[in-house]
Amino acid sequence: MRSRPRNVRKTGPDRALTLFAWLAAFLLLLSCLPSRAEDEAVPDIYADSVLASLGLPYARAYALVTAAGVTYVPIPLLGDREYTLRQREGVENTIHVMKDGVYMASATCENQDCVHQGEVTVQNRGTRILGSLIICLPNQVEVALYTFEEMEALLNDAFAASGAREAEE
Ligand SMILES: [Zn+2]
Repeated sequence: MRSRPRNVRKTGPDRALTLFAWLAAFLLLLSCLPSRAEDEAVPDIYADSVLASLGLPYARAYALVTAAGVTYVPIPLLGDREYTLRQREGVENTIHVMKDGVYMASATCENQDCVHQGEVTVQNRGTRILGSLIICLPNQVEVALYTFEEMEALLNDAFAASGAREAEE
């Protein structure tokens, strides 16, 4: 097991800007989210997490959306909400998040594979062909479900890789 750098938090928001494209629409929608899951205890590890340093509320799972190689801010799964990703005229995907999962509600792609892939939840991802993923090949959109712990590990690795790259330059 690789060790996680302990100095991740102080590089938080600035470093994050170089890692994620912050879409205005996503930020606007995120700002409308409830600040936390109301009926769930927030674990102690959240206070010292990268997710907290990014200003994202605690959730048991997050949806990570990537479109044409751009990764967006993780969406905490706190309840029913829809996000429409418009890449350009006629290329749209509407992602529906729920408290325990996510699915592609609609898409402009011809094959509609992404819509037919159904929902991915923490409970069902072990039995789905695509695991934690929902993939829209025509629109180059990928949605991945991560638990809090997985999301945190991914962000730690991303920051560590980014830090190593900067140190080399
Ligand atoms: Zn599709």
